Amino acid sequence: MITENNKTCAIIGSGISGIAASIRMRNKGYKVTVFEANSFPGGKLSQEINKGYRFDFGPSVFTMPQYVDELFILSGKNSRDFFNYVHLNPVYRYFFEDGTILDSYHGKKEYAAHMAAKTKDSEETILKYLNNTEQVYHLTADVFLHNSLHKFKNYFTKSIAKGIINFGKIGAFDTMNEANEKAFTDKKLVQIFNRYATYNGSSPYLAPATLNVIPHLEIIEGAYYPIGGIYSITQSLVELAKSIDVVFKFSSPVKEIIVENKKAAGVKTNNQTLPFDTIICNSDVYNTYKNLMPNQPKPEKTLRQPKSSSAVIFYWGIKKEFAQLGLHNILFSENYPEEFRYITHEKAIYHDPTIYINITSKHTITDAPPGCENWFTMINVPNNSGQNWDKLVAEARENIIKKASRILKTDIRPLIECELILDPRLVEQRTSSAFGAIYGNASNNKFAAFMRHPNFSKKIKNLYFCGGSVHPGPSMPLCLLSAKITTSLIKQ
Ligand SMILES: Cc1cc2nc3c(=O)[nH]c(=O)nc-3n(C[C@H](O)[C@H](O)[C@H](O)COP(=O)(O)OP(=O)(O)OC[C@H]3O[C@@H](n4cnc5c(N)ncnc54)[C@H](O)[C@@H]3O)c2cc1C
Repeated sequence: MITENNKTCAIIGSGISGIAASIRMRNKGYKVTVFEANSFPGGKLSQEINKGYRFDFGPSVFTMPQYVDELFILSGKNSRDFFNYVHLNPVYRYFFEDGTILDSYHGKKEYAAHMAAKTKDSEETILKYLNNTEQVYHLTADVFLHNSLHKFKNYFTKSIAKGIINFGKIGAFDTMNEANEKAFTDKKLVQIFNRYATYNGSSPYLAPATLNVIPHLEIIEGAYYPIGGIYSITQSLVELAKSIDVVFKFSSPVKEIIVENKKAAGVKTNNQTLPFDTIICNSDVYNTYKNLMPNQPKPEKTLRQPKSSSAVIFYWGIKKEFAQLGLHNILFSENYPEEFRYITHEKAIYHDPTIYINITSKHTITDAPPGCENWFTMINVPNNSGQNWDKLVAEARENIIKKASRILKTDIRPLIECELILDPRLVEQRTSSAFGAIYGNASNNKFAAFMRHPNFSKKIKNLYFCGGSVHPGPSMPLCLLSAKITTSLIKQ
């Protein structure tokens, strides 16, 4: 039962965090309006349909489903009436050029047993690593994920103080790769654990070893597949929001945030100026300062931080089924350091990129015509600094086709019956993410977490921020937590 408070809240953007914030604010009694530039909701959680194939546009690996369920519980609804998911085991299938195939399982013991059977490291070594990951996760989650990092009073809570006291244990002084090379003798395991740096668009050769907690979410907490694909998260949350009277205005880009006497007072769209008591920006923070309030003081140091990597994706309709592929597949590069040197230093694409192939038709058979598969074929690339993307994408396409054909021992070129392509220019055009960076700021130094924009404005009252470009950072679970932290800072 919602207790109305007669206050109004505007949310700029209907990314997963914006929708979650709308549900949370409505439950606080606010009248909530979500302004979305696109004609559809979801931002990076949207979808594409092409010639009988359906593709999730962006994310594919779904962890921590409880943060979606929480929004239904908060609204007094049964999540299962709107949204459901299945548990994945195995989660990933890793392919190496020497023919090795490794499966990644949920559960420490199962994971360690499977990996130890096919690598040089023992079950004990792998378990020790995963136990450490779990310990670091529990030491850091309250500091970095569950609370604002920018409220002084938070540093005096018991769990955060514990995290700070144990700072030496969380691996802030090694890079991810250094820690993984110390932990494992098998290069394949080092590469598998280094890959988690890409979950927030960073390089394992630069990012602090603290980020080795990322596999905890997948291996220890588990990974899931939302029935109907990732877009079903957007659909069900929008349905929930509408059922509690959140108003969505699509094709309504906000052009300006009105600030009066250092207070956010309303928003200007193409054809209206509307007053609001509270404004929450789910739009990328860099572009929000640049485009929506160009005359307001900017947190220059925060906005100057290097941005994350981006992606090139080929959404391919493939007229064949591959029994050796699962839902999540990785075809590893033979030279990982060189691949990342290209992304971070050359700002280009290495000729042998690691390829991620996500095939949702393995679970949702209607996502592809009978006998076919929908391949979401993605590589990590630098963000947009004016490269010749047409040339880079054409070269990458050739290299991907050759590598996938080699590893799968099948010429895939004649099997591609339709294609859509995403590159960093389209990421920015479609989601307004600065430079087409998918994950906001990169985490390529140990202070990166502290350099993300807070969930509130320090200079403008009633102005708040949520989503992948602000604290606690990118990914679906963190964006849902971002909405939770942001709305917890706003009075009932
Ligand atoms: C290719 C790819 C793969 C990914 N893989 C994963 C994964 O496997 N697992 C995972 O957990 N995460 C993954 N992510 C990251 C995850 O998708 C993002 O961190 C998350 O979806 C970002 O959500 P957000 O709430 O910040 O909003 P966004 O999705 O960035 O959406 C912002 C919305 O705001 C709107 N907007 C912007 N400016 C305005 C304006 N002025 N007026 C009105 N509307 C505006 C935009 O149109 C957009 O709809 C991936 C992302 C991509 C792109």
